[in-house]
Amino acid sequence: MDNNFLRQEITRLKAEKNAVILAHYYQNEEIQEIADFIGDSLELSKKAQNTNADVIVFAGVHFMAETAKILNPNKKVLLPDWDAGCSLADGCDPKYFKLFKKQYPNHIVVTYINCSAEIKAMSDLVCTSANAKKIIGSIPETQKIIFAPDENLGNYLKKETKRDLVLWKGSCVVHEAFSLDKLIEIYNKNPKAKIAAHPESESHILKVAHYIGSTSGIINFIKTDPAAVFIVATEAGILHELSKAVPDKTLIPAPSTEDNSCACSECAFMKMNTLEKLYLCLKNESPEMKISEELRIEALKPIERMLELS
Ligand code: SF4
Repeated sequence: MDNNFLRQEITRLKAEKNAVILAHYYQNEEIQEIADFIGDSLELSKKAQNTNADVIVFAGVHFMAETAKILNPNKKVLLPDWDAGCSLADGCDPKYFKLFKKQYPNHIVVTYINCSAEIKAMSDLVCTSANAKKIIGSIPETQKIIFAPDENLGNYLKKETKRDLVLWKGSCVVHEAFSLDKLIEIYNKNPKAKIAAHPESESHILKVAHYIGSTSGIINFIKTDPAAVFIVATEAGILHELSKAVPDKTLIPAPSTEDNSCACSECAFMKMNTLEKLYLCLKNESPEMKISEELRIEALKPIERMLELS
């Protein structure tokens, strides 16, 4: 289908159904262009909570649409591609996590928002990469903590907060794929560049970064730092919004170990959403996110604690 036709129809259907389109920074450019709000997990969670729309189209991955539904039980939440998963969320099976938790009695559970509703329901607190340090810092020092499902973010938090966290061994397939050798090669050619990295990246990448932060943190850093060239170690979709905000700066995506068409790191799950799928899901109001009320209430508690603290 022609993109102009799709854009016109999406705009028409949005008005007709009082729908709002929330898009993660990692979405394709054409989806970011038509979205009402673009943001990272935390920003979009807040938007989902405050919207007056009857329908939320969540152009992101499964756990994000699920979080939007947990926060908005009376709204219809749609996801353009039902199979848009996440290696972190999918790598933390509730059955095994329950057994893992049992090994550490007297620990409270802090989970990164990239997990399923079942895992959230087993958690005391949820966090995002933007507020993780603050959330861990809010817990009394004597309290033992399990952190899941991202081991890289967990190791970063251990270092930053000086807390001895018990970590679940999960990882993001995108952020663990950065090549340090290739990154250093690029840096040597651009010695005045600043390296900005997401804390889901492996520790050897974080060690060489000038700035470590969430997606929105990286965007703010690049907007305000005086450097002219930046090497950006997170999903390459962020560069679309950034290049509009700082057209005079040079943005170089950090390279992945695998050779791929754009020589940068892209999340295959995020890129499963297309303009056509977005149009079809708005038109057919499907796939629709549904969740049992019992599970929703349990998963909501740690999210609300996070929103109160952030
Ligand atoms: S970039 Fe990584 S953490 Fe984000 S959705 Fe993709 S696999 Fe999950």
